Amino acid sequence: MTHMNPVFIPGPTNIPENLRRSCDMATMDHRSAAFAPIIARAKSGVRQVLKSDTAEVFLFPATGTGGWETAITNTLSPGDKILIGRNGMFSNKWIDMCQRHGLDVQVLEHRWGQGLSPAAYAEALAADTEHRIKAVLATHNETATGVRSNIKDIRAAIDANDHPALFLVDGVSSIGSMDFRFDEWKIDVAVTGSQKGFMLPPGLAIVGFSNKAMAATMSAKLPRTFFDVQDMTKGYPYTPPVGLLNGLADATDMLLAEGLENVFARHTRIATGVRAAIKAWGLPLCAETESDYSETVSAIKTPKGFDAATIPTHAADTYGVAFGGGLGEVAGRVFRIGHLGLMTDVMALSGLATAEMAMADMGLDITLGSGVAAAQAIYRTHPALPSEKAA
Ligand SMILES: *Cc1c(COP(=O)(O)O)cnc(C)c1O
Repeated sequence: MTHMNPVFIPGPTNIPENLRRSCDMATMDHRSAAFAPIIARAKSGVRQVLKSDTAEVFLFPATGTGGWETAITNTLSPGDKILIGRNGMFSNKWIDMCQRHGLDVQVLEHRWGQGLSPAAYAEALAADTEHRIKAVLATHNETATGVRSNIKDIRAAIDANDHPALFLVDGVSSIGSMDFRFDEWKIDVAVTGSQKGFMLPPGLAIVGFSNKAMAATMSAKLPRTFFDVQDMTKGYPYTPPVGLLNGLADATDMLLAEGLENVFARHTRIATGVRAAIKAWGLPLCAETESDYSETVSAIKTPKGFDAATIPTHAADTYGVAFGGGLGEVAGRVFRIGHLGLMTDVMALSGLATAEMAMADMGLDITLGSGVAAAQAIYRTHPALPSEKAA
Protein backbone atom coordinates (compact mmCIF):
# COMPACT_ATOMS: atom_id res chain seq x y z
CA MET A 1 0.00 0.00 0.00
CA THR A 2 3.04 2.27 -0.09
CA HIS A 3 1.66 3.92 -3.20
CA MET A 4 -1.02 5.46 -0.97
CA ASN A 5 1.53 7.83 0.58
CA PRO A 6 2.15 11.26 -0.90
CA VAL A 7 5.61 11.91 -2.31
CA PHE A 8 7.86 14.67 -1.02
CA ILE A 9 10.15 14.90 -4.01
CA PRO A 10 10.35 18.11 -6.04
CA GLY A 11 8.90 16.45 -9.11
CA PRO A 12 7.17 14.44 -10.23
CA THR A 13 4.64 15.77 -7.74
CA ASN A 14 1.44 14.29 -6.33
CA ILE A 15 -1.43 14.10 -8.82
CA PRO A 16 -4.92 15.17 -7.72
CA GLU A 17 -7.54 12.49 -8.37
CA ASN A 18 -9.51 14.77 -10.71
CA LEU A 19 -6.42 15.37 -12.88
CA ARG A 20 -5.70 11.66 -13.07
CA ARG A 21 -9.18 11.30 -14.51
CA SER A 22 -8.62 14.26 -16.85
CA CYS A 23 -5.63 12.46 -18.37
CA ASP A 24 -7.49 9.18 -18.73
CA MET A 25 -9.26 9.58 -22.05
CA ALA A 26 -10.54 7.27 -24.73
CA THR A 27 -8.64 7.43 -28.02
CA MET A 28 -9.35 10.62 -29.89
CA ASP A 29 -8.49 11.48 -33.48
CA HIS A 30 -6.38 14.59 -32.99
CA ARG A 31 -7.37 15.73 -36.50
CA SER A 32 -11.01 15.81 -35.39
CA ALA A 33 -12.84 18.94 -34.27
CA ALA A 34 -12.96 17.70 -30.67
CA PHE A 35 -9.22 18.24 -30.17
CA ALA A 36 -9.05 21.97 -30.95
CA PRO A 37 -10.91 23.17 -27.83
CA ILE A 38 -8.64 21.07 -25.58
CA ILE A 39 -5.45 22.58 -26.92
CA ALA A 40 -6.94 26.08 -26.94
CA ARG A 41 -7.95 25.78 -23.30
CA ALA A 42 -4.54 24.38 -22.28
CA LYS A 43 -2.64 27.16 -24.06
CA SER A 44 -4.84 29.91 -22.71
CA GLY A 45 -4.53 28.47 -19.19
CA VAL A 46 -0.74 28.28 -19.40
CA ARG A 47 -0.58 31.86 -20.71
CA GLN A 48 -2.53 33.06 -17.67
CA VAL A 49 -0.35 31.07 -15.26
CA LEU A 50 2.69 32.73 -16.89
CA LYS A 51 1.00 36.13 -16.30
CA SER A 52 1.26 36.93 -19.99
CA ASP A 53 -1.10 38.47 -22.53
CA THR A 54 1.16 37.81 -25.48
CA ALA A 55 3.24 34.66 -24.97
CA GLU A 56 2.94 32.06 -27.72
CA VAL A 57 2.59 28.76 -25.84
CA PHE A 58 3.96 25.47 -27.21
CA LEU A 59 3.24 22.07 -25.68
CA PHE A 60 5.67 19.37 -26.79
CA PRO A 61 5.51 15.68 -25.88
CA ALA A 62 8.70 15.78 -23.79
CA THR A 63 9.84 16.97 -20.35
CA GLY A 64 11.45 20.14 -19.02
CA THR A 65 14.72 19.08 -20.67
CA GLY A 66 12.97 19.14 -24.05
CA GLY A 67 11.79 22.63 -23.13
CA TRP A 68 15.41 23.73 -22.63
CA GLU A 69 16.25 22.35 -26.07
CA THR A 70 13.22 24.10 -27.60
CA ALA A 71 14.36 27.39 -26.07
CA ILE A 72 17.92 27.31 -27.39
CA THR A 73 17.56 25.57 -30.76
CA ASN A 74 14.77 27.85 -31.95
CA THR A 75 16.46 31.13 -31.03
CA LEU A 76 20.23 30.61 -31.47
CA SER A 77 22.81 29.61 -34.08
CA PRO A 78 25.99 27.50 -33.77
CA GLY A 79 28.79 29.51 -32.16
CA ASP A 80 26.46 32.11 -30.66
CA LYS A 81 27.62 33.42 -27.33
CA ILE A 82 25.34 32.99 -24.34
CA LEU A 83 25.60 34.05 -20.69
CA ILE A 84 24.37 31.66 -17.99
CA GLY A 85 24.75 31.27 -14.22
CA ARG A 86 25.56 27.93 -12.56
CA ASN A 87 24.45 27.34 -8.94
CA GLY A 88 23.30 23.71 -8.90
CA MET A 89 22.63 20.55 -10.87
CA PHE A 90 19.82 21.88 -13.06
CA SER A 91 21.58 25.04 -14.23
CA ASN A 92 24.62 22.79 -14.70
CA LYS A 93 22.67 20.45 -16.99
CA TRP A 94 21.33 23.35 -19.08
CA ILE A 95 24.92 24.60 -19.47
CA ASP A 96 26.00 21.14 -20.59
CA MET A 97 23.20 21.08 -23.18
CA CYS A 98 24.23 24.50 -24.51
CA GLN A 99 27.85 23.35 -24.84
CA ARG A 100 26.82 20.16 -26.61
CA HIS A 101 24.85 22.27 -29.09
CA GLY A 102 28.01 24.16 -30.05
CA LEU A 103 27.18 27.44 -28.34
CA ASP A 104 29.93 29.66 -26.92
CA VAL A 105 28.97 29.47 -23.25
CA GLN A 106 30.09 32.10 -20.74
CA VAL A 107 29.38 30.66 -17.29
CA LEU A 108 28.92 32.78 -14.17
CA GLU A 109 30.05 30.48 -11.36
CA HIS A 110 28.24 30.53 -8.02
CA ARG A 111 28.44 28.42 -4.90
CA TRP A 112 25.83 25.65 -4.82
CA GLY A 113 23.49 27.28 -2.30
CA GLN A 114 23.87 30.82 -3.63
CA GLY A 115 21.20 32.64 -5.64
CA LEU A 116 22.23 33.79 -9.12
CA SER A 117 23.83 37.20 -8.75
CA PRO A 118 22.17 39.99 -10.78
CA ALA A 119 25.35 42.01 -10.21
CA ALA A 120 27.47 39.31 -11.85
CA TYR A 121 25.11 39.27 -14.85
CA ALA A 122 25.25 43.09 -15.00
CA GLU A 123 29.04 43.10 -14.94
CA ALA A 124 29.31 40.55 -17.75
CA LEU A 125 26.75 42.40 -19.87
CA ALA A 126 28.46 45.75 -19.30
CA ALA A 127 31.73 44.23 -20.51
CA ASP A 128 30.03 43.00 -23.68
CA THR A 129 30.11 46.35 -25.48
CA GLU A 130 29.94 44.67 -28.90
CA HIS A 131 26.76 42.81 -27.93
CA ARG A 132 28.20 39.41 -28.79
CA ILE A 133 26.02 37.79 -26.11
CA LYS A 134 22.88 36.65 -27.93
CA ALA A 135 21.02 35.22 -24.96
CA VAL A 136 21.01 35.46 -21.17
CA LEU A 137 19.92 32.26 -19.42
CA ALA A 138 18.83 31.84 -15.81
CA THR A 139 17.22 29.16 -13.65
CA HIS A 140 14.49 30.73 -11.51
CA ASN A 141 14.42 27.99 -8.90
CA GLU A 142 17.46 25.70 -8.56
CA THR A 143 15.74 22.49 -7.50
CA ALA A 144 18.98 20.78 -6.43
CA THR A 145 19.76 23.32 -3.72
CA GLY A 146 16.37 24.85 -2.89
CA VAL A 147 17.45 28.28 -4.07
CA ARG A 148 15.30 30.89 -5.78
CA SER A 149 16.99 33.52 -7.93
CA ASN A 150 15.74 37.02 -8.61
CA ILE A 151 14.63 37.00 -12.25
CA LYS A 152 13.29 40.56 -12.01
CA ASP A 153 16.73 41.86 -11.02
CA ILE A 154 18.51 39.86 -13.72
CA ARG A 155 16.10 41.45 -16.22
CA ALA A 156 17.00 44.83 -14.73
CA ALA A 157 20.69 44.02 -15.30
CA ILE A 158 19.95 43.45 -19.00
CA ASP A 159 17.95 46.68 -19.25
CA ALA A 160 20.50 48.75 -17.34
CA ASN A 161 23.00 47.93 -20.07
CA ASP A 162 20.52 48.44 -22.92
CA HIS A 163 21.54 44.95 -23.96
CA PRO A 164 19.55 43.37 -26.82
CA ALA A 165 20.11 39.73 -25.72
CA LEU A 166 17.18 37.34 -25.45
CA PHE A 167 16.21 36.30 -21.91
CA LEU A 168 15.60 32.54 -21.52
CA VAL A 169 14.34 31.37 -18.13
CA ASP A 170 14.01 27.89 -16.63
CA GLY A 171 10.87 27.98 -14.49
CA VAL A 172 10.45 24.23 -14.27
CA SER A 173 10.13 24.07 -10.47
CA SER A 174 8.61 27.52 -9.98
CA ILE A 175 5.91 28.11 -12.61
CA GLY A 176 2.48 27.40 -11.14
CA SER A 177 3.84 27.43 -7.57
CA MET A 178 5.84 30.64 -7.17
CA ASP A 179 5.22 34.10 -8.60
CA PHE A 180 6.40 34.21 -12.21
CA ARG A 181 5.77 37.22 -14.46
CA PHE A 182 6.50 36.54 -18.12
CA ASP A 183 5.39 39.96 -19.43
CA GLU A 184 6.55 42.13 -16.55
CA TRP A 185 10.02 40.56 -16.46
CA LYS A 186 10.19 40.69 -20.26
CA ILE A 187 11.06 37.02 -20.54
CA ASP A 188 11.61 35.79 -24.10
CA VAL A 189 11.35 32.06 -23.48
CA ALA A 190 9.98 30.43 -20.32
CA VAL A 191 10.37 26.68 -19.82
CA THR A 192 8.54 24.21 -17.63
CA GLY A 193 7.16 20.68 -17.61
CA SER A 194 3.88 19.00 -16.68
CA GLN A 195 5.05 17.10 -13.59
CA LYS A 196 5.88 19.88 -11.12
CA GLY A 197 3.62 22.86 -10.41
CA PHE A 198 0.98 21.58 -12.84
CA MET A 199 0.58 18.37 -10.77
CA LEU A 200 0.38 16.11 -13.84
CA PRO A 201 2.30 13.01 -14.91
CA PRO A 202 5.56 13.74 -16.74
CA GLY A 203 5.29 14.02 -20.51
CA LEU A 204 4.89 17.63 -21.56
CA ALA A 205 7.48 20.32 -22.21
CA ILE A 206 5.61 23.59 -21.70
CA VAL A 207 7.21 26.69 -23.20
CA GLY A 208 6.21 30.30 -23.77
CA PHE A 209 7.78 32.46 -26.50
CA SER A 210 7.71 36.26 -26.67
CA ASN A 211 7.28 38.09 -30.00
CA LYS A 212 11.00 38.83 -29.92
CA ALA A 213 11.79 35.13 -29.46
CA MET A 214 9.40 34.24 -32.32
CA ALA A 215 11.24 36.73 -34.54
CA ALA A 216 14.56 35.13 -33.57
CA THR A 217 13.32 31.75 -34.81
CA MET A 218 13.45 33.12 -38.37
CA SER A 219 17.25 33.45 -38.35
CA ALA A 220 18.23 30.83 -35.73
CA LYS A 221 20.33 28.11 -37.36
CA LEU A 222 20.75 25.44 -34.67
CA PRO A 223 19.40 22.15 -36.04
CA ARG A 224 15.90 21.29 -34.84
CA THR A 225 13.15 19.04 -36.08
CA PHE A 226 11.03 17.59 -33.27
CA PHE A 227 11.19 20.84 -31.28
CA ASP A 228 10.72 23.29 -34.18
CA VAL A 229 8.21 25.88 -32.99
CA GLN A 230 7.47 27.13 -36.51
CA ASP A 231 6.30 23.63 -37.47
CA MET A 232 4.21 23.61 -34.30
CA THR A 233 2.46 26.90 -35.14
CA LYS A 234 0.77 25.06 -38.02
CA GLY A 235 -0.66 22.43 -35.66
CA TYR A 236 0.88 19.24 -34.26
CA PRO A 237 3.37 17.87 -36.79
CA TYR A 238 3.04 14.48 -35.03
CA THR A 239 0.69 12.71 -32.64
CA PRO A 240 -0.07 14.79 -29.55
CA PRO A 241 -0.58 13.27 -26.08
CA VAL A 242 -4.26 14.20 -25.96
CA GLY A 243 -4.94 12.96 -22.43
CA LEU A 244 -2.05 14.94 -20.93
CA LEU A 245 -3.13 18.04 -22.82
CA ASN A 246 -6.65 17.62 -21.46
CA GLY A 247 -5.08 17.24 -18.01
CA LEU A 248 -3.14 20.45 -18.54
CA ALA A 249 -6.29 22.34 -19.51
CA ASP A 250 -7.93 21.15 -16.28
CA ALA A 251 -4.79 21.76 -14.18
CA THR A 252 -4.65 25.39 -15.25
CA ASP A 253 -8.37 25.71 -14.48
CA MET A 254 -7.65 24.37 -10.99
CA LEU A 255 -4.80 26.79 -10.36
CA LEU A 256 -6.78 29.75 -11.69
CA ALA A 257 -9.86 28.77 -9.67
CA GLU A 258 -7.79 28.70 -6.48
CA GLY A 259 -6.33 32.03 -7.61
CA LEU A 260 -2.64 32.33 -8.51
CA GLU A 261 -1.92 34.61 -5.55
CA ASN A 262 -3.60 32.08 -3.23
CA VAL A 263 -1.55 29.27 -4.78
CA PHE A 264 1.65 31.24 -4.14
CA ALA A 265 0.55 32.10 -0.57
CA ARG A 266 -0.17 28.43 0.11
CA HIS A 267 3.30 27.45 -1.07
CA THR A 268 4.85 30.20 1.03
CA ARG A 269 2.96 29.12 4.16
CA ILE A 270 3.82 25.43 3.68
CA ALA A 271 7.48 26.27 3.01
CA THR A 272 7.60 28.48 6.11
CA GLY A 273 6.38 25.57 8.23
CA VAL A 274 8.88 23.17 6.65
CA ARG A 275 11.72 25.61 7.32
CA ALA A 276 10.58 26.07 10.93
CA ALA A 277 10.81 22.30 11.31
CA ILE A 278 14.30 22.17 9.81
CA LYS A 279 15.40 24.92 12.18
CA ALA A 280 13.96 23.00 15.14
CA TRP A 281 16.01 19.98 14.06
CA GLY A 282 19.10 22.17 14.26
CA LEU A 283 20.02 21.47 10.65
CA PRO A 284 21.07 24.14 8.14
CA LEU A 285 19.57 24.65 4.72
CA CYS A 286 21.78 24.38 1.66
CA ALA A 287 20.38 27.79 0.62
CA GLU A 288 22.71 30.40 2.11
CA THR A 289 20.50 33.49 2.20
CA GLU A 290 16.98 33.85 3.53
CA SER A 291 15.76 35.95 0.61
CA ASP A 292 16.81 33.10 -1.73
CA TYR A 293 14.86 30.34 0.05
CA SER A 294 12.74 28.36 -2.39
CA GLU A 295 9.02 28.00 -1.71
CA THR A 296 8.85 24.65 -3.53
CA VAL A 297 11.80 22.60 -2.25
CA SER A 298 14.07 22.63 0.78
CA ALA A 299 17.55 21.06 0.64
CA ILE A 300 18.74 20.15 4.14
CA LYS A 301 22.39 19.72 5.06
CA THR A 302 23.24 16.83 7.34
CA PRO A 303 26.21 16.88 9.76
CA LYS A 304 29.74 16.28 8.43
CA GLY A 305 30.60 12.62 8.08
CA PHE A 306 26.95 11.57 7.74
CA ASP A 307 25.80 10.24 4.36
CA ALA A 308 22.64 12.23 3.59
CA ALA A 309 21.69 9.74 0.86
CA THR A 310 20.73 7.24 3.58
CA ILE A 311 17.70 9.34 4.59
CA PRO A 312 15.66 9.08 1.36
CA THR A 313 16.72 5.44 0.91
CA HIS A 314 15.68 4.48 4.44
CA ALA A 315 12.43 6.50 4.31
CA ALA A 316 11.46 4.78 1.06
CA ASP A 317 12.37 1.28 2.28
CA THR A 318 10.88 1.58 5.75
CA TYR A 319 7.98 4.01 5.49
CA GLY A 320 7.19 4.00 1.79
CA VAL A 321 7.71 7.74 1.50
CA ALA A 322 9.85 9.42 -1.16
CA PHE A 323 12.21 12.29 -0.38
CA GLY A 324 14.86 13.72 -2.69
CA GLY A 325 18.58 13.02 -2.47
CA GLY A 326 21.48 15.34 -3.16
CA LEU A 327 22.60 15.86 -6.75
CA GLY A 328 26.04 16.53 -8.19
CA GLU A 329 28.29 18.62 -5.96
CA VAL A 330 25.95 18.25 -2.97
CA ALA A 331 25.35 14.48 -3.33
CA GLY A 332 25.62 12.81 0.09
CA ARG A 333 25.59 16.17 1.83
CA VAL A 334 21.92 17.14 1.54
CA PHE A 335 18.53 15.53 1.28
CA ARG A 336 15.50 17.36 -0.08
CA ILE A 337 11.88 17.79 0.85
CA GLY A 338 9.68 18.77 -2.08
CA HIS A 339 6.66 20.83 -1.06
CA LEU A 340 5.00 21.91 -4.28
CA GLY A 341 1.96 21.18 -6.34
CA LEU A 342 -0.79 19.20 -4.64
CA MET A 343 0.31 19.97 -1.08
CA THR A 344 -1.49 21.02 2.07
CA ASP A 345 -0.38 21.87 5.61
CA VAL A 346 -1.55 18.45 6.77
CA MET A 347 0.34 16.60 4.03
CA ALA A 348 3.47 18.57 4.89
CA LEU A 349 3.13 17.56 8.56
CA SER A 350 3.07 13.88 7.59
CA GLY A 351 6.22 14.36 5.54
CA LEU A 352 7.99 16.13 8.38
CA ALA A 353 6.96 13.41 10.85
CA THR A 354 8.31 10.76 8.48
CA ALA A 355 11.56 12.64 7.93
CA GLU A 356 11.99 12.79 11.71
CA MET A 357 11.57 9.03 12.02
CA ALA A 358 14.02 8.39 9.20
CA MET A 359 16.62 10.74 10.65
CA ALA A 360 16.27 9.30 14.16
CA ASP A 361 16.48 5.75 12.77
CA MET A 362 19.71 6.64 11.00
CA GLY A 363 21.24 7.94 14.22
CA LEU A 364 20.90 11.69 13.77
CA ASP A 365 20.29 13.59 17.02
CA ILE A 366 16.66 14.52 16.33
CA THR A 367 13.95 14.88 18.95
CA LEU A 368 10.86 13.20 17.52
CA GLY A 369 8.08 15.73 17.14
CA SER A 370 10.30 18.81 17.38
CA GLY A 371 10.01 19.78 13.74
CA VAL A 372 6.37 18.79 13.54
CA ALA A 373 5.58 21.02 16.53
CA ALA A 374 7.42 23.96 14.98
CA ALA A 375 5.49 23.53 11.73
CA GLN A 376 2.20 23.13 13.61
CA ALA A 377 2.82 26.52 15.21
CA ILE A 378 2.93 28.02 11.70
CA TYR A 379 0.01 26.04 10.30
CA ARG A 380 -2.34 26.79 13.23
CA THR A 381 -2.29 30.42 12.11
CA HIS A 382 -3.45 29.46 8.62
CA PRO A 383 -5.63 31.87 6.65
CA ALA A 384 -9.20 30.74 5.98
CA LEU A 385 -9.57 27.78 3.66
CA PRO A 386 -11.38 28.55 0.38
CA SER A 387 -14.42 26.58 1.65
CA GLU A 388 -14.53 28.72 4.83
CA LYS A 389 -14.28 31.91 2.77
CA ALA A 390 -17.21 30.83 0.60
CA ALA A 391 -19.39 30.10 3.64
C1 LIG B 1 12.90 19.07 -13.02
C2 LIG B 1 13.71 20.20 -13.53
C3 LIG B 1 14.24 20.21 -14.85
C4 LIG B 1 14.22 19.01 -15.75
O1 LIG B 1 13.00 18.62 -16.04
P1 LIG B 1 12.69 17.17 -16.65
O2 LIG B 1 11.22 17.30 -16.75
O3 LIG B 1 13.14 16.15 -15.68
O4 LIG B 1 13.35 17.06 -17.95
C5 LIG B 1 14.88 21.34 -15.28
N1 LIG B 1 15.04 22.40 -14.48
C6 LIG B 1 14.58 22.43 -13.22
C7 LIG B 1 14.80 23.64 -12.40
C8 LIG B 1 13.91 21.32 -12.71
O5 LIG B 1 13.44 21.35 -11.45
